[in-house]
Amino acid sequence: MDRRKFLLQSSLLAAGAVLPFKSLLAKKQGDFTTVRRNVGYFTERGGTIGWLASPNGMAVVDSQYPESAKNCLNGLQDKTDQPLNLLINTHHHGDHTGGNPIFKGVAEKMAAHENVPKLMKKANEESEGEGNTAFPETTYSENWKMDLGDETVHTTYFGPGHTGGDSVVYFEKANVVHMGDLVFNRMNPFTDRPSGGSMKNWVKILSTVADEYPSDAIYIFGHAKPEFGVTGDKKDLDVMKNYLSAVLDYAQKGIEQGLSKGEIMDKKSLEEFEHFLYADFWTLSDNLGVAYEELME
Ligand SMILES: [Zn+2]
Repeated sequence: MDRRKFLLQSSLLAAGAVLPFKSLLAKKQGDFTTVRRNVGYFTERGGTIGWLASPNGMAVVDSQYPESAKNCLNGLQDKTDQPLNLLINTHHHGDHTGGNPIFKGVAEKMAAHENVPKLMKKANEESEGEGNTAFPETTYSENWKMDLGDETVHTTYFGPGHTGGDSVVYFEKANVVHMGDLVFNRMNPFTDRPSGGSMKNWVKILSTVADEYPSDAIYIFGHAKPEFGVTGDKKDLDVMKNYLSAVLDYAQKGIEQGLSKGEIMDKKSLEEFEHFLYADFWTLSDNLGVAYEELME
């Protein structure tokens, strides 16, 4: 074996020996970020999980998917010896409830708006396979609260928005609000009209929420354009509200001009919102279609 060949082979061997270890280190196990007073958020895959981990209470808001839910639970168990007292689902979508089976039997209570288990069951019927049967069993029609040590968690339903069962979750002492998917921070949001969502009421919800909680509340968002992040303040709620209003206005003007639904939907981005993230899975056209249907009913 000549020297060149030897060097090449040994460096490949070395690379081979190091690479799996490196990729193991780089393997994403999710990120925990503290927001304020034992309340924070976890991101890995799916909707942002909110958490409380204090010496006398543990809660999670949303559950992502089974793998990331496990990572989240493991990480939280490193933060406190408390058992998990509560899981809240902000709404029924799979990227917010997919990890429920991991929390079932671990969490003392699983809570959500009363439409959430119904919409989960409907989604199961419409999909092939087993589906997710880890339904939240503590339900409410308007609001609900639970004391967890020195923190109180409030959940409130403000009517149809992103779906027909969105809750806003408020950690009172930390003054942190989890919005679920009522805010896609600087993103064209998914609007689930077949599940009872309403773009018009969604706009109202964002105004109501901004007035409902203290002006210095910190908000956690279900999804975000990466540069803008999954937390913010009430000004970010306004941006989402203005975006949805602009979608409705654009559709309304088209209707008044006698344009067809297809003509109204033929648009890639909205003026003044070019900096938004327009993802392929749900486009501005899709939202203009929802707005058209809602305005025409
Ligand atoms: Zn959603």
